[in-house]
Amino acid sequence: MKGIVSVSTLSCVALFLSCSRETPLEIRNRLDGYLITEIYITRAGSAESGPDLLLDSLAPGASDTFAFPAGSYDILAVDDEGGRYACRAFPLSGESMTLSVLPDALDEATRAVRAEAAEAACRADMRCLAVAEAMMTAAGGRPGTQAEMVEAGFLPGDDAFRCPSDPSGSGYAISTVGDSSYTVACPVSELTGHGSITDGVASWDAGE
Ligand SMILES: [Zn+2]
Repeated sequence: MKGIVSVSTLSCVALFLSCSRETPLEIRNRLDGYLITEIYITRAGSAESGPDLLLDSLAPGASDTFAFPAGSYDILAVDDEGGRYACRAFPLSGESMTLSVLPDALDEATRAVRAEAAEAACRADMRCLAVAEAMMTAAGGRPGTQAEMVEAGFLPGDDAFRCPSDPSGSGYAISTVGDSSYTVACPVSELTGHGSITDGVASWDAGE
């Protein structure tokens, strides 16, 4: 008799644990330069998006942990400029898991808008650098490096001149030939096609 009671008590406890157990799900911001400001987690295929679960926005590298019963979930993260990163049918199996929000997951529409804006900003920067090279050559007898043009007062001395598509943020590639010829190039032009300017002539004007 005693044995039966204890068995049934144990099975109740086990049942209670398996029903109530929630799986920790860590969501980490692995974006470059964007905060995550909203996170939505809903049962996979659910028509409703539910409430925003994020209390404080996540800086790049930061994470927050949520807890849900095992199952399959649709997860949507939104960055501080409205970009959306969706993960469909993410499986929670009872083991704690980490989901990294990566730039690759950005929705196509936002990606296209941002690529266009980055190209425009990069080319505008290169135009400024080309003008500075012309002034540098007129004043100093030869084109200079970015640092030399800052020192000569032809460029602002902050970090204003960086291609937005270059994660390393190391600035533009400037090469000079002799005392009058220079090329200012996007450091990631092979990937982005942003191009370069040689002696005042832009590759995107000359090449097309
Ligand atoms: Zn560029």
